Amino acid sequence: MTVTRFAPSPNGPLHLGHAFSAIVAHDLAQARGGRFVLRIEDIDGARSRAELADEFRADLEWLGLEWTEVAPQSARLARYAAAAERLRDMGLLYPCRCTRADIARAATADGSDGPVYPGTCRGAAIPPDEPVAWRLDVAEALRRTGPLSWTDERAGEQLARPDLAGDVVLVRKDADTPASYHLAATLDDAADGVTLVTRGMDLFAASHVHRLLQQLLGLPVPAWHHHPLLLDADGKKLAKRRGSPSLADRRRGGEDGPALAKALRERRLPAGITPGEALDGAA
Ligand SMILES: [Zn+2]
Repeated sequence: MTVTRFAPSPNGPLHLGHAFSAIVAHDLAQARGGRFVLRIEDIDGARSRAELADEFRADLEWLGLEWTEVAPQSARLARYAAAAERLRDMGLLYPCRCTRADIARAATADGSDGPVYPGTCRGAAIPPDEPVAWRLDVAEALRRTGPLSWTDERAGEQLARPDLAGDVVLVRKDADTPASYHLAATLDDAADGVTLVTRGMDLFAASHVHRLLQQLLGLPVPAWHHHPLLLDADGKKLAKRRGSPSLADRRRGGEDGPALAKALRERRLPAGITPGEALDGAA
């Protein structure tokens, strides 16, 4: 059975781009007689606001979507810690004490997520009481797994290139946010039985890393569907701070939610919104 998911973080309101993402995931599941799952990714401790999750549910309901909600990330911390421990035991994690500024100074390459970590702390001795992040030794991990591939429904089969992202952080330095997106989302998708990981093209590069983690941790390998992003008139991702109204604003303003959902399904975008690339027909 096809299981897709929508996994927003409650650190800001949802906007049109989220609505599009949720509708794509919902409709892909529905078209295949599958299940659409909502997962609240609420472990960004400092920025997470619990009341926003209720707004998210109201937004999805307003759009006319139906979903099954699974446990939020904050209820899964033990699972993240256990997986990190396993990778550490395999000798695949190393501690890193670099700051963002250290990395920006030392980096020689840019990835999709900013400067690529150049491996400064790999093999370095770090005092035991110093706060550290734990990074994946990607070259060593890939040496053990051998070449990996994964499939995006739109882009086709991909040779996994987690090396392009460098040695990503799996366990954050900040105790408030213990697991990184890479570790948490990969474990969650497996635990939730997600068979089709549906999300925006901005996370395409992350899937290379997730494929590697699945192999290392013996998790099932889903298919992916990365959809085009909706952009504002300046070609930037939609965000409330750049004047794009939130779904909650639209809902409270009396806009017709199902009509908005229908327009997005038919790829009729409101004025000032452009797709980052040609949109496929409705799913
Ligand atoms: Zn470091």
